[in-house]
Amino acid sequence: MAYITLNKNNFFNNLDIIASHTKSKDKIAIVLKDNAYGHGLTEIASLANEYGIKKAVVRSEEEARSIQNNFEYILVLASIPDKPSSKIRYTINDINSINKFPKDTLVELKVDSGMHRNGINKIELRSAFIKIKDAGLILEALFTHHRSADELTSEWFWQNSNFKSVKEEANALAQEFGLTPLRFHSANSASLFRTDSFDEDMARVGIASYGCLEACEKLLPVLSLYADKLSSREVKKGERVGYGGIFTAKVNCVVSNYNFGYGDGFLRNSSNDFVTSSGVKQIGRISMDNSSFISESENLLIFENAVDAAKTANTISYEVLTSLKTSLKREII
Ligand SMILES: *Cc1c(COP(=O)(O)O)cnc(C)c1O
Repeated sequence: MAYITLNKNNFFNNLDIIASHTKSKDKIAIVLKDNAYGHGLTEIASLANEYGIKKAVVRSEEEARSIQNNFEYILVLASIPDKPSSKIRYTINDINSINKFPKDTLVELKVDSGMHRNGINKIELRSAFIKIKDAGLILEALFTHHRSADELTSEWFWQNSNFKSVKEEANALAQEFGLTPLRFHSANSASLFRTDSFDEDMARVGIASYGCLEACEKLLPVLSLYADKLSSREVKKGERVGYGGIFTAKVNCVVSNYNFGYGDGFLRNSSNDFVTSSGVKQIGRISMDNSSFISESENLLIFENAVDAAKTANTISYEVLTSLKTSLKREII
């Protein structure tokens, strides 16, 4: 089987660095969607709790319920609940969904500041406030998301300035509607690491906590993937290995097959190109539960940094990590 180790020291190192940017642990909302970016939802939730993180962001109601005891505040990005909760906040992504939330739900309003994916338009702010009031929902915060915080272009500044004017208008509306002061947040990892003057109420930090934000070298990867050997054989010069025989041995060599493949979430796209963190070559086509390497070791470190693994698969660390199946064993070291 393949298995995952989670490095607690590296995780805490990353949280220290993130806290130095937010200036307080309390302003870190750790993003745990998609099984905590493949790291394991319950494992990362309990480590974050041990470190002293109080806020989390997830995608669904089910994820939120399963980590309720680890956090004081949970933001759900994409579910409408059956009943309100005192701890879980729900995102309004569309003005027409407001009447679908049950009365007394704690809600946060997503505003489109330029990404044009989710959220209401600035010109809909007043009608959104009216609909929220009519539905009996409790509006606590407004937030937005950057479309290119990781690219050093002016778009980040443009979206910040759009969101700034939304904040001003929302504050005025909050007064007019007699609401308690609103909270605001906009930063993901890349956005948080672009500024030394972070001043919002929280930052929603995913990839930086897992140590795969390329903009900061001091962050250390948390997840490593290993696999166990199933068999070894000597392959003679000219013999070919695996489905379609896409690898041909140029010299006699020992090839071992390891008990993992795309069925475990390892990217088939990097077949015959992939090289492990310690320089061991993967050969032939990666199959569902089998992958061959030029190696004899009983146990192989496949990768210790998803950023490197992503490069051979022509993708991003986020996809490498979230592809890893929940069924893989995860061990905290
Ligand atoms: C996934 C997500 C984040 C976290 O992004 P990172 O780049 O991993 O920090 C933040 N906010 C929203 C709305 C997201 O969907």
